[in-house]
Amino acid sequence: MSRPISAPAHSRSQALQQRAEHLFPGGVNSPVRAFRAVGGAPPFLESAQGAWLTDADGNRYIDYFGSWGPMILGHAFPPAVEAIERTARKSASFGASTESEGDLAERVVACYPAIEKLRFVSSGTEATMSAIRLARAATNRSVIVKFEGNYHGHADGLLVKAGSGVATFGIPGSAGVPEAVAHLTLALPYNDLAAVEAAFAAHKGEIAAVILEPVVGNAGCIPPAPGYLGGLRAITRREGALLIADEVMTGFRVSLGGAVQLYKMDPDLITLGKIVGGGLPVGAFGGKRAIMDLLAPLGPVYQAGTLSGNPLAMAAGIATVSYLQDHAAEIYPQLEAASKAVFEGVAAEAVKAGVPLTTNRVGSMGTWFFASGPVTNYDEAAKSDTAAFGRFHRAMLDQGVWLPPSQFEAAFLSAAHGKAEIDATIEAARTALQAVLTA
Ligand SMILES: *Cc1c(COP(=O)(O)O)cnc(C)c1O
Repeated sequence: MSRPISAPAHSRSQALQQRAEHLFPGGVNSPVRAFRAVGGAPPFLESAQGAWLTDADGNRYIDYFGSWGPMILGHAFPPAVEAIERTARKSASFGASTESEGDLAERVVACYPAIEKLRFVSSGTEATMSAIRLARAATNRSVIVKFEGNYHGHADGLLVKAGSGVATFGIPGSAGVPEAVAHLTLALPYNDLAAVEAAFAAHKGEIAAVILEPVVGNAGCIPPAPGYLGGLRAITRREGALLIADEVMTGFRVSLGGAVQLYKMDPDLITLGKIVGGGLPVGAFGGKRAIMDLLAPLGPVYQAGTLSGNPLAMAAGIATVSYLQDHAAEIYPQLEAASKAVFEGVAAEAVKAGVPLTTNRVGSMGTWFFASGPVTNYDEAAKSDTAAFGRFHRAMLDQGVWLPPSQFEAAFLSAAHGKAEIDATIEAARTALQAVLTA
C-alpha cells in the first residue's frame, strides 16, 4: 500500500511565478526551469544548505540537481562563502588581471594535464563556442561533428540536432539558427564509431573538430561504450581534426580530472564550466599550447569578455577546486558509494513495483530512464516514457525530493548527501513508483 501524498503548500511560489510570467518568457531565465517537461509548477527557491533546498513557502527538498552540476560540495559550502565575502570587500570586478586567475588556472592545469594553457570565460556556452572557433582557425576547416543528444550550450552552430542518416548535414535545432550555419554541423549518433568513419569519408578534409560530452549528461546520463573515446581519438588524429572534450558537466564531477582522467582520453581541447566556478559564472577552455596561442592578443582568433576571470568567480572556483584537490582521495570514493546506494536503491524499488527502469550512472551523475531497454544513445533515451517520468518527478517533489525536471537531464549528488538523505530518497521513490503505475 502506498501512503497518500499530500502536496506541500506553494502559495508564495505561485504568486512569484505569476509576476515572473509578466517579466520573463515562460516566467524563467533558462527554459528547463519552467518544468514544462514534467508538468506542475516550479517552486521558487529561497536558500539552500548542503544537500537541502528551501523554497519560498518554507518547504524543504533533498537536492538532486545541484544547480545543474556546480554544487558538488553542497550548497553554501563555507570556504566558498567566506572566499566570496572576503573578495567582494576588495571590489567585485576590475577588468584587469588579478592574482586569482593564475591561482585557479594552476589548479586546473594540475588536474587536467591535457590543458597546457587556458582562458577563462563566464559560461559553458562561451567555452565551447570559443573552442570551436579556435578549432576552425587551427585546422582552416569549417565543419564540426557533434553527437545527437549532446548539449554544448546555445551557440548557433552547436544547437543542431540530427535528422536521421549518418552523413546528413544537420537541420537547425532552434528557430533563428540560419541553415547556412547549421549546415556546417554534422550531428551523428553517439557511441557509433562507424558513423564517425562515414562522416569523415564523406567530408574528406572538411571536418575541423569532433566535440562531445565524454559522458553524456544532457540526454540523461549515457556513458561512453568501451573503446569509443579511444576510437574517436584515433580517427580524428588520422584525419587531422581536433578532438574537443566538453567537460563542462563531467569536469571535476566524474573524477578530479574529469572524464579525460577516468577514461584516459587525450583530447586537443577541453572545455570546463559548472564546478570550476563553484556556483559562480565561470567557464574555461584550454589545451595544447600551440593551439591556444592562436588566440588574441598573440594570434588571429578573437575572443574576449568584460567579466572573464572575474575575482568573485575565481574566488568561488579556487575554494571549490582546492578543496576537491586536497580531499579527492576521500570525496570521490564517498560520492561513488552514496551514488551507488541511491541509484541502485531506487532501481531495486522499481523492480519490486514492476516499473521498467534503466539506470545509467557514472560516479555522482546518473539517470533513471523510464525505459526497459539499454540506453546507449539519444534514440534509445528518447524511447523513455516521459509521462511516467513526469508522474515520478511530481510525486518525488511532493515528498521533498527535487530531481532534475526532465527525463533528459542527469541527476547529481553532492558530498553533503549522507545516509539519511539517501534512505529518505529511496523511501520516497517507493511511494512515487506507485504513482507512476496509477496513471
Ligand atoms: C551546461 C553545459 C554547457 C553550457 O554551459 P552554460 O554555462 O549553461 O552555458 C555546455 N556543455 C555541457 C556539457 C554542459 O553540461
